[in-house]
Amino acid sequence: MTAILLDGRALAKTLRADMRAEIQQFQVTTGRAPVLAIVQVAGDPAAERYVRSIRKSCEDQGVGFVARLLPAETSQTALEAAIAAVSADASVSGVLVQLPLPRGLSQADAIAQLDPRKDVDGVHPYTAGLLMQGLPGFVPNTPAGGMELLRHYGITLAGKRALVVGRSVVVGKPMALLLLQANATVTIGHSRTPDLAALVREAEIVVVAVGRAGLISGAMLRPGAVVLDFGINVLGDGTIVGDVDFASAAEVVAAITPVPGGTGPMTNVMLLRNVLQAARALHGVAV
Ligand code: NAP
Repeated sequence: MTAILLDGRALAKTLRADMRAEIQQFQVTTGRAPVLAIVQVAGDPAAERYVRSIRKSCEDQGVGFVARLLPAETSQTALEAAIAAVSADASVSGVLVQLPLPRGLSQADAIAQLDPRKDVDGVHPYTAGLLMQGLPGFVPNTPAGGMELLRHYGITLAGKRALVVGRSVVVGKPMALLLLQANATVTIGHSRTPDLAALVREAEIVVVAVGRAGLISGAMLRPGAVVLDFGINVLGDGTIVGDVDFASAAEVVAAITPVPGGTGPMTNVMLLRNVLQAARALHGVAV
């Protein structure tokens, strides 16, 4: 392997240590801890695992954690009331609504109940508008973690040809906007893109957020490219892999995130960073 490993696990560990000190300082200044509230509709085991991992991160970092677990057959009215209640609760700094919601519940109407000042997951249209206009606000956690990795490893983005494969509201689109803000020339690929391989071959920065193992192989990549792989795919034997074939890609590119251990570990850290940012803003504490 010739590529540099963009080691999200190691960077997340360093950032967590730095943030623990900042959270302690916030507590000394205000006499209270930042608090994250999660509103979750029961029934999805993967979501339950994710919420448990967030709870643990909060406990480790000294961030308060409040769970509002609603029954699987909850009504839209009850869901919206729960989100409105935690949004209005002065002791709560940030609110995360566990998405996607079960079929039959409106995500847009639910998110509309969220106070944008507490939108630490970056899902409210107001927050997305700030990002689109390049104004300060909460950046969705997963792309924020990817950008942090690129920054940490000193990857130059200005003037580079960047390809983002995937256009979801939580990963692909915000990642493309962040790369654009960093002055890359950005192309977005998706399921209707006819010749994805041609775009991959051109790209100096390749970001993949699709959810398809082996979508991108080493043979498709440009020598010296930098690859961020957000994909999480569980194979039949339980192995977790990304969207990029790591073994072949690592022989060609200059730098690449492993899966697991690349972009994944960064996401929780960025969430807690947003909770601290929300708490500071709500309590008028300067950074
Ligand atoms: P998503 O909402 O399902 O979006 C997937 C995107 O991939 C869509 O834009 C889709 O295009 C595109 N796509 C599907 N098949 C394609 C193909 N053959 N060629 C090109 N594009 C294709 O998924 P997501 O929420 O963005 O998540 C993407 C991946 O990232 C998943 O594996 C997920 O588990 C992972 N993820 C990782 C983290 C992390 O912390 N690392 C966090 C969140 C998600 P259309 O828009 O045309 O349908």
